[in-house]
Amino acid sequence: MKVALVGYGKMGRTVEETAAARGFEVVDRFTRERPLRAGDATRRALSGVTALVDFSVPEAVPETARAAAELSLPLVIGTTGWQGRLDEVRELAARSGIGVVRAANFSLGVNVFYRLIEQAARLLSALEGYDPFIHDWHHRFKLDSPSGTALEIQRRMARYYGEREVPITCQRAGYVPSVHWVGFDSAADTIHLEHRARNRQGLAEGALLAVQWISGRSGFHDFQDVLADLLPEGLA
Ligand code: NAD
Repeated sequence: MKVALVGYGKMGRTVEETAAARGFEVVDRFTRERPLRAGDATRRALSGVTALVDFSVPEAVPETARAAAELSLPLVIGTTGWQGRLDEVRELAARSGIGVVRAANFSLGVNVFYRLIEQAARLLSALEGYDPFIHDWHHRFKLDSPSGTALEIQRRMARYYGEREVPITCQRAGYVPSVHWVGFDSAADTIHLEHRARNRQGLAEGALLAVQWISGRSGFHDFQDVLADLLPEGLA
């Protein structure tokens, strides 16, 4: 399968390395200096591409989605921090008929972690005296704070905590790819769930799984839809 990268920074390069190992061919790379724009030359260069893989900057996402729609190319979006423009991109996908998979975190482990957290929140919110909290720690270069993953965890916990917003604390220091903790603290004890990414490769693997999955599909999807297809029936 052929892919083209939108954004060629830490994640774009990791996707490229992982793609080579998984038998994908990266045919082009778009950057700040050379953003993706629809046009005949681009259409020719991207002929045969299964999907575009976007790990760039939040402000570029709507314009990239517009170009993808004009080029009729599916889009896998890993960029975070553009939730304010979500409806616009969702609408673009619906109108153009292209497929979009987006995730604040493409790691399979994190997507299973979301489900474990929901299960814990469902149980512990039903009891008196457990205060929930989220902590997000990323490397010093990360631009958005809280992380898209922390916000997604908070959104999922909101189903059980309603009006009471689960607090997020953030730490931007050092070089760790990412760590997320979810805690439930009572006078008697603390329950701690932790996800720690060891490297960026798991994220790139997930994005490439999404490329395979979106091929031949349309509409706006979350990576949870991809995960659901990987799990045996009954667990999905
Ligand atoms: P980075 O700073 O290393 O790279 C960003 C890249 O975007 C650069 O190559 C830059 O040239 C490019 N860029 C800037 N403007 C552009 C434009 N208009 N068009 C195309 N490219 C443009 O950042 P990174 O660590 O690679 O992360 C990129 C994004 O992915 C961030 O939003 C980050 O939070 C997110 N991220 C998501 C996941 C996930 O699993 N969803 C994982 C890691 C990072």
